[in-house]
Amino acid sequence: MLGLMQEVPLSIPMMLRRTRDLFPEKLVISRRPDRSITRTSYREVLERAGRLAHALRVLGVRDGDRVATLAWNHQRHLEAYFAIPSSGAVLHTLNLRLHPSDLAYIISHADDRVVLVDQVLWPLWEKVAPLVRVAHVIVMGDGGETPAGAIDYEALLAGAPDAPFPFDDRDERTAAAMCYTSGTTGRPKGVLYSHRAITLHTMMSLAADGPGISERDVLLPVVPMFHVNAWGFPFTAAFVGASQVHPGPHLDPASLLDLMAGERVTMAAGVPTIWLGILQALDQAPGKWNLSALRMTLVGGAAPPEAMIRGFKQRHGVVVQQGWGMTEMTPIGTVSHLRGEHEALPEHEKYHLLAKAGYPVIGVEIRARSEGGLIPWDGTTMGELEVRGPWIAREYYRPEEEITQFTEDGWFRTGDIVTIAPDGCVTITDRAKDVIKSGGEWVSSVALEGALMGHAEVFEAAVVGLPHSRWSERPFAVVVRKPGAQVDEQALKAWLAERFATWWVPDAMTFVDALPKTGTGKVQKSVLREQYRDRYAHAADAIQLPPAEAEA
Ligand code: AMP
Repeated sequence: MLGLMQEVPLSIPMMLRRTRDLFPEKLVISRRPDRSITRTSYREVLERAGRLAHALRVLGVRDGDRVATLAWNHQRHLEAYFAIPSSGAVLHTLNLRLHPSDLAYIISHADDRVVLVDQVLWPLWEKVAPLVRVAHVIVMGDGGETPAGAIDYEALLAGAPDAPFPFDDRDERTAAAMCYTSGTTGRPKGVLYSHRAITLHTMMSLAADGPGISERDVLLPVVPMFHVNAWGFPFTAAFVGASQVHPGPHLDPASLLDLMAGERVTMAAGVPTIWLGILQALDQAPGKWNLSALRMTLVGGAAPPEAMIRGFKQRHGVVVQQGWGMTEMTPIGTVSHLRGEHEALPEHEKYHLLAKAGYPVIGVEIRARSEGGLIPWDGTTMGELEVRGPWIAREYYRPEEEITQFTEDGWFRTGDIVTIAPDGCVTITDRAKDVIKSGGEWVSSVALEGALMGHAEVFEAAVVGLPHSRWSERPFAVVVRKPGAQVDEQALKAWLAERFATWWVPDAMTFVDALPKTGTGKVQKSVLREQYRDRYAHAADAIQLPPAEAEA
C-alpha cells in the first residue's frame, strides 16, 4: 500500500520559494576584485537570477544543457547557482586552479553550451578558449572592456525579458549541478548532482549534530563555489535564511579576518591550509580582529591537525568542527562532535575526539572493508570506507575508463582508509593511494602529520612513503617551519619518538618554504613522492623491525 502524502519534488526552486517568502531582506555580501564590498538582499539576487534564467533561454539553453561557471565566490556566481538549475539547465562549476588543458578536457567532456567567466579570469579563459567549442561566453565584468565576441553579464541581464524567476517545481531526479573530481590519478570524473540530492544534503546541513546552520547565521564559505557547490552552503544559507558573505578572490588570512570581523560572520568553512594561515595571523596579532560573533568554523577537505583545533579554541575561543566528505558525496559525509557521554571527559581527550573525522551525518551509512571482508567497528582494524546515502553518486557521468568504485550492492568505495570505533566514530588514517606500508605494516601519514603540526615551531607538514631497499617503503617528512623557527630534524624526530613506535618515525625529513597543493588546497603527495623518490633507494638499514617482520 502506498502512503498518501503529497509528492512535492525536492528541488532548488522549492528551496528558493522559501527564501523569497520568508527571507527576502537577508543579506548577500561580496568582496569584489578591487576589494570594495557590495551588499544586497536575496530579493535582489533572485530578481537578477530570474533575468539570467530567461536570458539563458533566449540564448538557446534548454533543459539539461550544461552551463559552466569559471568564477570566484561572489554575488553573480550565486545568481548563476540559483538561475541555472531553476531554469532546468545544469550548473557546471569549473575549478579555476586547473591547468587550461584539464579545463578544456572537462568542458568538452561535459559538453558545456555556455560559460560564465569572471573578467579577472579572462587571461585563463583565453588559454582554454582555443581548445573548446562553446556557443556563448558571458563575462562577469568589473569595469573593464568586454572582450570581443563575449557577452557582458550586466548587459545580458538588462536586456532580458521582464519575467519572474522560475520558481516552478522541477523533477527532483533531474540533474541540477555537476562538478568534476580533482582526480590526481586518471582523468577527472564528472559527478552529476540531482535536485533531490542537493535538497536533502541541505536539510542535513541544518541538523544540530551536523553543521547545524540556522537563520541566525552569517555564513562565509571560504571553500570555493567551484568545489562541490561550496559544500552546499550557498543553498543551505538561502533555504534557512542565513545571510552569506563571499570573499571574491581575496583569500589571504588578513582579508578573510577583516571580512569575518567586519561582517560579524558566525560560521566559516574551508580547508585546513586556510585555517592554519588564519590561526598564525591571529597568534601574531592577538586582539586585532574581533571574532566574538564567530561560533564555529567547519574545516574539511583534508585532516585538520589536533593542535590547530586546540589552538583556535584555547587561544581565540573559536570552535572548530571537522567535516569529511568527497565530491561524489555533495560533499558532507561525517562531522566531528562530542556526544552527551563525552561531556565528562578530560579536555585533552575531547580534542583528541574532535580531531577525528567524526560520525556519519543523518542520511549517510558507513562500513569499511579490508581484504578479509567487512571490518569490525573496534577502533583499530583498518579498511577502506564505503558509504551509502541519497546524496552519494551511484555512477559517474559518461566515464571513459573502467570504474571500480561502486559495489554490486550499491555502495560507493571512497578510497579512504579508516578505522571505525564501536560508537561509529570514523578516523581517517590515509588516502588509499597515499598509504605507507613499511615492512608489511601500515604507517598512518595523517597521524604523523597531525603530530608534527602539533609542534610549536611547525606550520605545516606532509609525510609520504618513499621506496626503500629493505622495507619496501619508509616514511619521509616534508616540513614547513613557522616564520623565524629553527627547529631541526633531530628535534622533530625526538618529538615523534615520544608519540609513536620507533619504526613509525620518518628516517629523514626536509624543510621547505611551502608544500605543493592541488586546486582544492590538498597537499599533492604524488609530487612529493616523485620529487624525493630516490631518497631511500640505497638507505642504510638503521631502523628497528616492525612487528610483522620481527615475528616472521
Ligand atoms: P574531494 O573529492 O576533492 O573533495 O576530495 C575528497 C577526499 O579528501 C576524501 O576522499 C579524503 O581523502 C579527503 N578528505 C576530505 N575531508 C577530509 C578530512 N576531514 N580528513 C581527512 N581527509 C579528508
